Amino acid sequence: MSSQVSQVSAQKNQPEVNIGVVGHVDHGKTTLVQAITGVWTARHSEELKRAMTIKLGYAEADIYECRELPEPDRFVSDPSRCGSEVSYRRSISFVDAPGHEVLMATMLSGAALMDGAILVVAANEPCPQPQTREHFAALDIIGVRNLVVVQNKVDVVSREEAVKNYNQIKEFLKGTWAVDAPIIPVSALHKVNVDAVIMAIEKFIPTPERDLSSPPLMFVVRSFEVNKPGTQPNELVGGVVGGSLLRGVLRVGDEIEIKPGIRREKGGRVVYEPLTSEVVSIRFGTREYDEARPGGLVAIGTKLDPALTKADRLVGNVLAKAGTLPDPLSTVSIEYKLMERVIGTRELIKVQPLAKGERIMLTVGAAVTLGVITKLGRDRMELMLRRPVIAWKGMRAAISRQVLGRWRLVGWGKVVD
Ligand code: GDP
Ligand code: 5GP
Repeated sequence: MSSQVSQVSAQKNQPEVNIGVVGHVDHGKTTLVQAITGVWTARHSEELKRAMTIKLGYAEADIYECRELPEPDRFVSDPSRCGSEVSYRRSISFVDAPGHEVLMATMLSGAALMDGAILVVAANEPCPQPQTREHFAALDIIGVRNLVVVQNKVDVVSREEAVKNYNQIKEFLKGTWAVDAPIIPVSALHKVNVDAVIMAIEKFIPTPERDLSSPPLMFVVRSFEVNKPGTQPNELVGGVVGGSLLRGVLRVGDEIEIKPGIRREKGGRVVYEPLTSEVVSIRFGTREYDEARPGGLVAIGTKLDPALTKADRLVGNVLAKAGTLPDPLSTVSIEYKLMERVIGTRELIKVQPLAKGERIMLTVGAAVTLGVITKLGRDRMELMLRRPVIAWKGMRAAISRQVLGRWRLVGWGKVVD
């Protein structure tokens, strides 16, 4: 059996679908990702200290089908649990969104990468909690339509409480696009029923059809300086840019551009300078590849000065084949709608109308920027942006404003021009 397993393991491909893991803080998103992938995604010391996911977490898993086993044991991320009849299905990736209310901007920019999502709901709290509502609404706004709901922590509630909570989840989904989403009772901590989650993923979150013929375009959600202190000058490598491709195929050797680019102050003015470079390496996880396709978080090694990419400086940029990106927009027109209630707060406060001169937060693709409303109509507004964005007509935008001292999702829109 082991030779069979190593054979199928060798088929490891790039991840082909990004699954967002969303929901209220502490409901068990990171624990669930660990139960499926073996990876604890909250790695940064600050995150560990504060015991919550701050940046987007990320982990990958290969999914196998045990052809001799009945459902729900049939689909696994650990092929040693199969008998001899095991086949590789696909590689999937998890983007673990922070569930804390102060980190809604990170969640919204991460949502741009999600092809489908798992909504984690803890069985030992009334449903919905504020960020259960807010993350669910964000999925709707971004256009995610493939959802699996995980009812977690069933080990700490009685059967009656679990049923009551299940009914609350059902009630929450009633009348929404996710009314038919499966709800899987799970204990992520004790790894109970995790196979059923994997089966639901295989059934309800298919790999989307990708546009591989257009020029490659990637949303940047991380950037790094990877040289360790003390590296010899001849061994230094260029800046590394992390993100996920929206379309196309990016290859080693490709000339690339990154826009809006790097922020500089020139003569008292802030300007953004686009960057150009070449792809020198491509990595998913710890493996090197010659090319990258949509699906999974990829790390693109470039010839850029690492000072330009260190400490996430390029987050919110778009990386693409040189000469293919539009100019960044400093003003943008949005067709918008406001929600009736602020859903991210505990009390459902009424959303007041927008006002000319108001400062709002706009998320377009993976970019988050502040904007001042310069023109305001009933369903259309113009914004002057503090940081320019790469956007195109029809792109979805999430609108947040400060309510009770935090950025809350209050509306959505589409870029008009
Ligand atoms: P996140 O903020 O949604 O990523 O939540 P975490 O995965 O960090 O989990 C928050 C806390 O809940 C941690 O202390 C976990 O050990 C605990 N937890 C997660 N899943 C379960 C579960 O199924 N049962 C129990 N009893 N505790 C869990
Ligand atoms: P770290 O700083 O944690 O070693 O690496 C940060 C990220 O950059 C990881 O995703 C890692 O895989 C990626 N990375 C590190 N070195 C290289 C490299 O030489 N080329 C590429 N493409 N990615 C790299």
